[in-house]
Amino acid sequence: MGNFLTKFFHAELITVGDELLKGSTLNTNAKFLGQKLTDLGFRFHAHVSCPDQVEVIKSKLGEALERSDLIILSGGLGPTPDDVTRDAVADYFSSPLVFSKSQYARIESLYRRYGKRIPSIVRKEAMFPRQSHPLINRFGIALGFSIVFKHRLIVVLPGVPQELEKMYSEQVQALIVKHFHGLRKRYSLIVKTVGLSEPDVMSRLKKDFFDVPFDFGIYPQPGEVALRLYADQRSIIRRLKEKIQKRLGKDVYAFEETSLSEVIGRILVQKKKTLGVAESCTGGMLAQEITRVSGASRYFKGGIVAYSNALKHQFLGVPQEILKKFGAVSEKTAAFMAQGSKGMMEVDYAISITGIAGPDGGTRKKPAGRVYLALATPRQLKIWEKDFWGDRIQVQTKSVKKALECLWREIK
Ligand code: AMP
Ligand code: MG
Repeated sequence: MGNFLTKFFHAELITVGDELLKGSTLNTNAKFLGQKLTDLGFRFHAHVSCPDQVEVIKSKLGEALERSDLIILSGGLGPTPDDVTRDAVADYFSSPLVFSKSQYARIESLYRRYGKRIPSIVRKEAMFPRQSHPLINRFGIALGFSIVFKHRLIVVLPGVPQELEKMYSEQVQALIVKHFHGLRKRYSLIVKTVGLSEPDVMSRLKKDFFDVPFDFGIYPQPGEVALRLYADQRSIIRRLKEKIQKRLGKDVYAFEETSLSEVIGRILVQKKKTLGVAESCTGGMLAQEITRVSGASRYFKGGIVAYSNALKHQFLGVPQEILKKFGAVSEKTAAFMAQGSKGMMEVDYAISITGIAGPDGGTRKKPAGRVYLALATPRQLKIWEKDFWGDRIQVQTKSVKKALECLWREIK
């Protein structure tokens, strides 16, 4: 175990802010830095979140310095009295705060651009402990800084995620790589699958998949499962990828960090095809998911949320008799919704979703969670009946994912 601990460099994050502990802000900095530092080859002893209190920050910093090589603190660099990270770190190293003229010049130019006067409390944000190296923040107000102490590297960054992320990419990563020469890069592989459950993935991978040394992470989300693999050698990753292609291949939509709607977008652009949707129980979520992708206007013509029978008839041409005889939640209605929107929107592909999102509204024959999906393609019409479990949002999310999955399998 001792060997194991000394073989790798260890990183530790201290995210500062009452809002993180109270649950009013999601700690996205921990996600971002956790991923980046893992990619660089660091291991972690701990991620710590602590309140905006000088004594707690100092004690967490002290603990981190005992066990970790790289410590990144984020948050608490703002101008208000509750932001005390700067003071806490300066105090810990008994290093008085000094003023950065260049950061202040940036702050001045920012304020000038918006025609505002700089409030006096903002001056504090251009301060750094004398013992540290300032890290200029081009993306906001608060100056960051770094300290080298007993071969350890301590980096202090603003809490605003956009600023932290850009500063990390622009200067902090280079600083880390320079400080830790011996850092062995870890190779990684991301696998995004759709339509499989976690147990499906595990049984398809089989036991022998795990015979080589690597770190394995499996992350389920509604309708899809992502894998993240890390190894010390590129050849191991290459072999794992080959096995994954053989064993999960037809359900893998990407070997990179992306989304199903993005992959679909790329294919539609490449094939010069267009898409439209008609939704009932998902209330526009499918259209929203499709339009999350920048450039979606190149292939997505639009969507109709036809919640009432009247609108299903009027806008999508679902015959009254069909609605009356089979109901709004039926294969037939789904089929007419897809065909109707395909014709009306003049698209190559149209998807429809109609179902009972629940928790109310189910019957014995059609329970809550029952969803019908249809896909009209240039050649044919396909229909699916699904029973999703979960609460209302889960049923809606799974319906959207299933609709995208059906489309992807058709066009890939
Ligand atoms: P601060 O640097 O503490 O003034 O934080 C500035 C803004 O960034 C606030 O809106 C915080 O809620 C947000 N923030 C601080 N730390 C984090 C974090 N770890 N993850 C996400 N947002 C954060
Ligand atoms: Mg704060």
